Amino acid sequence: PVRVRFAPSPTGMLHLGGLRTALFNYLLARRYGGAFVLRIEDTDRKRLVPGAVGAIVDGLAWAGVRFDEGPHFQSQRSDEYRRHAQALVERGAAYRCFCGPARLEALRAEAAAQGRAPRYDRRCLGLSQRQIDERLRAGERFTVRLAMAEAEAGDAGAFHDAVHGAVRLAGAAGFDDAVLLKSDGLPTYHLANVVDDHAMGITHVLRGEEWLMSTPKHRALFRALGWAPPQYAHLPLLMNPDGSKLSKRNRDGPVQAYVDAGYLPAALVNYVALLGWHPGGTQELFTLPELEAAFTLAGLGRSKSTVSRDRLDWLNRQHLRRAIAEPGARAVLAAQARAALPAAAAAAAAADPAAVEHALRLSAGRLTLLRDLPAEVPFVFADPDLDAPAAARMLHAVPHATQAAVLRAALAGGSQWTTASFAGDVAAAALAPPGHAAAVLRHALTGQPRGPPLADVLGALPAAAVRRRLAAALA
Ligand code: GLU
Repeated sequence: PVRVRFAPSPTGMLHLGGLRTALFNYLLARRYGGAFVLRIEDTDRKRLVPGAVGAIVDGLAWAGVRFDEGPHFQSQRSDEYRRHAQALVERGAAYRCFCGPARLEALRAEAAAQGRAPRYDRRCLGLSQRQIDERLRAGERFTVRLAMAEAEAGDAGAFHDAVHGAVRLAGAAGFDDAVLLKSDGLPTYHLANVVDDHAMGITHVLRGEEWLMSTPKHRALFRALGWAPPQYAHLPLLMNPDGSKLSKRNRDGPVQAYVDAGYLPAALVNYVALLGWHPGGTQELFTLPELEAAFTLAGLGRSKSTVSRDRLDWLNRQHLRRAIAEPGARAVLAAQARAALPAAAAAAAAADPAAVEHALRLSAGRLTLLRDLPAEVPFVFADPDLDAPAAARMLHAVPHATQAAVLRAALAGGSQWTTASFAGDVAAAALAPPGHAAAVLRHALTGQPRGPPLADVLGALPAAAVRRRLAAALA
């Protein structure tokens, strides 16, 4: 069975790229009936940000990306990592390195001066057992490094990646003798990551492309520990529209920014899923259950994905439209919308308990964010300002006598107000052209040249409000 994990380092907020990684792992687990594990990679104590774990867990919960196991914390498993490093040293697959920061810095500077990637020169691999014992007795600090044999290194760099196909990595960067244990005895990311992927039975590693160059180290480490490596899928970077890399600091980076803006979780999840995954048909609108049924590794693309607010806005409109059409979901949206109304609109909504649901129905398909509701259909929440220029211009082609006749007929019409043929009936009663009657009524009821069908407007307003507005327009 598939076992996958999301393994964030709690160094900040959950960002869009992290959510995508988590989502794809989750989807793979759901699609193939496996388990999705949350693992917190918190071994680098210096980079921990207080509250980050909570923010990650909350962000996933908001999006509906549920983990089946965890969170596991690497900081609680240090003994396990040390034990494996020790075993590797005993088998000669890893070695103690006594080189201090000054020497390593000098090696780095030398490499930089020669224009090549830094690489540890393996001086400590040549130490005799006697030399090692002496230095240990003297209490010298050491790290533990993986002894990456050249032949093995080449092999570790050649593997199949579900996104990139046949990968063949060569060159210094991926093949340094990786530090496994730091001098404080705590594991590096590489060791803890590999030990846990094995311990947790991880079958597929879906992670950001920034880890591709570390994969040879990980594969070599799996081999040294006598374990089979998982399958890899390295997800392409997310880019800003201007071609720069989407980082956690960008406005569009943190998931919380989308939560605060009022995007629906379903819309953000749909959006994120399409950043790098191609459904292979023309369907663009997916709920989470639909994604769970449709996701495949084969649909993952190799090219970088560019974030687009326009696309997200479009998806949010579509998901709002779907939810508004469904009474249960609409009631939930209405409660959220009510909580976000500005004071004046909130008072109107309190006076007419149906107002918000009416407003939602009237704006379905055009409403981008819930908080735009009062701006989208202002006439639901307030009588129109008939002196506003846009409202005043609406009637320039309608003679005054016709305007008055239409309004009088409408006021006299009483119960006909609720019928779908309202405008037509009024036009007939007032002996006015239908276009003129419709313009006069729309003007009186909404003050807006364009908007939902008049019958729908009428259905959304309490009878008293309709009468009040017609009378006000007549005055
Ligand atoms: N802790 C790493 C990160 O924060 C995990 C990388 C991986 O998935 O192996 O991205």
